[in-house]
Amino acid sequence: MMQILFLGVGEACDPDHGNTSVLLTTGAGASLLLDCGFTAAHRFFAACSDPDRLDAVWISHCHGDHYFGIPLLILRFREMGRRRPLALVGQAGLEEIVRSLMEMAYPGFMVKLGFALQFHETGPEQTLSLAGLRWRTAPTLHSRPNLGLLLDDGSCRLYYSGDGRPGDRVAGLVRDCDLAIHEAFRLEDEVAGHGSIAGCRRLKAGARIRRLALVHLERRVRRKQRQEIGRILDQDPDLFLPEDGDTVSVP
Ligand SMILES: [Zn+2]
Ligand SMILES: [Zn+2]
Repeated sequence: MMQILFLGVGEACDPDHGNTSVLLTTGAGASLLLDCGFTAAHRFFAACSDPDRLDAVWISHCHGDHYFGIPLLILRFREMGRRRPLALVGQAGLEEIVRSLMEMAYPGFMVKLGFALQFHETGPEQTLSLAGLRWRTAPTLHSRPNLGLLLDDGSCRLYYSGDGRPGDRVAGLVRDCDLAIHEAFRLEDEVAGHGSIAGCRRLKAGARIRRLALVHLERRVRRKQRQEIGRILDQDPDLFLPEDGDTVSVP
């Protein structure tokens, strides 16, 4: 059993939606933040007032709408008196990137946090165990190296795409999963390096994904093609378009 809160469902420049970011709570009580872009830290603290509640943060890739919220997250945990270590999980080089990001945002703060940062660096098609979950990754097709992440608690499986079009290795990873939260930038595959609603439908059918949440829609597509998107969603009750603040349980 997993509980999902969509802190944001938007792309980088969407003024009406927060950057795509998901707060996940497992049946065993672990708490994970999936991506932490420009807007995500404020949304996180609006939803969670306990400084020690969050166990880990996953960063899918290094675009600002997926990781530039980290300095604010760390700053506010420090201000709130966090004591528990915080795991930061992402691709090789994450520790160096986070340390330099913090040094640019709040110079000198990293030495007086009051809590430890535990970095876990991974790569494509790697497996690790953390917070009572098995974490497995696959590369997507994006303009920056991006890892899709499959989280498995032994009874249910959640996939979070980050950005990018799914390739064959994603299709293998997500087979039979309970919920996929997938980036879809346009209706069709017009933009290289981004997913689409059509591509998500193909992935869902081919990999027998039970439910799929479409996130990170290009802001003008979300607005101008709403009716067309509505018609597509009407054809499949297990394909949905969450809004900021929506929650869903898995399975
Ligand atoms: Zn993005
Ligand atoms: Zn990106």
